[in-house]
Amino acid sequence: MNVLITGGAGFIGSNFVKYLSNKYPHYRITNLDALTYAGNLENLKSIDTLPNYTFVKGNILDSSLVDQLCGQGIDIVLNFAAESHVDRSIEDPQLFIKTNVLGTQVLLDSAKKHNLRKFVQISTDEVYGSLGPTGLFTEKTPLAPNSPYSASKAGGDLLVRSYHETFGMNVNITRCSNNYGPYQFPEKLIPLMILRTLTDQPLPIYGDGLNVRDWLYVEDHCSAIDLVMHQGISGEVYNIGGNNEKTNLEIVRSILQELNKPESLINFVQDRPGHDRRYGIDATKIRTELGWKPKHHFEAGIQATIQWYLENRTWWERIQSGAYRQSTDLQVGDI
Ligand code: NAD
Repeated sequence: MNVLITGGAGFIGSNFVKYLSNKYPHYRITNLDALTYAGNLENLKSIDTLPNYTFVKGNILDSSLVDQLCGQGIDIVLNFAAESHVDRSIEDPQLFIKTNVLGTQVLLDSAKKHNLRKFVQISTDEVYGSLGPTGLFTEKTPLAPNSPYSASKAGGDLLVRSYHETFGMNVNITRCSNNYGPYQFPEKLIPLMILRTLTDQPLPIYGDGLNVRDWLYVEDHCSAIDLVMHQGISGEVYNIGGNNEKTNLEIVRSILQELNKPESLINFVQDRPGHDRRYGIDATKIRTELGWKPKHHFEAGIQATIQWYLENRTWWERIQSGAYRQSTDLQVGDI
């Protein structure tokens, strides 16, 4: 199996590249990543010399590069590449439309042209919008994105759907809840709060802190994508979630407790515009149809994550200092 993974130097993509390479050492993996601020080759140190792994620095918007890669015997594309931070999407929506919508279209066109076996779009529960205090998102919930980020992801998803309906392409879309775990960029809630707690800095929480997210350990997301790429039914969407809803305040309190720091560090700040109140995932379909089951309970997962950040100080210090930004020459290897 020859697999093209886009965005494989980011948080979930790098966890997935390593997961796949460990589980299927005979697979050839090509990782195409533009190395934006969120991409970090230091996430991939443990596999970067393996013979079946090739890193290519490049943009999914570069259709000739994407075409060159897809034309070299790729079987399946997994699209993780995205601009992924909601706050940044409020500052610069256009960048999000370029990467998350147009980039997806470039990949789809190339996958179609080269008649690839499958295309998997890694998406998010945020495309469904916000829930009230009850109910869960199913795959049939109408899309109602509220931020430029989620709107751009919904745009990408709809293009993927259309290439299935119009051109008969074999596609899947996964929509996962919030991930946490090792290698998450420290702008996101959990690593941000861990690092600020460690250095006794105030912990900014939007609004009243009662916005609810369903948290899933990143390795459980990887195992779900593994099932979808191998067994997903063509054209189907699969929701992925941990049945583990927490308010932002609960998340921050659990970090404070683990690190033995006072609640006085909590600092409520003005809410984000368009801030979704609650996400909750019904993952019945992937559980019953593909037999997926998450392995990690939140309490153990958050402890492991905090421990990881404690043990990998150099990794995040190099992000904070900017030293992790390094250029890599384009390598189009023997795919
Ligand atoms: P991330 O921001 O950590 O990583 C994104 C990666 O994509 C980076 O390595 C970046 O360099 C790369 N990239 C960005 N623009 C690119 C471009 N134009 N061409 C090539 N590469 C580009 O994101 P993440 O948290 O790992 O999320 C990965 C995917 O999973 C995204 O599609 C996101 O929407 C989705 N997702 C994330 C979460 C979450 O909680 N983080 C939850 C559900 C779904």
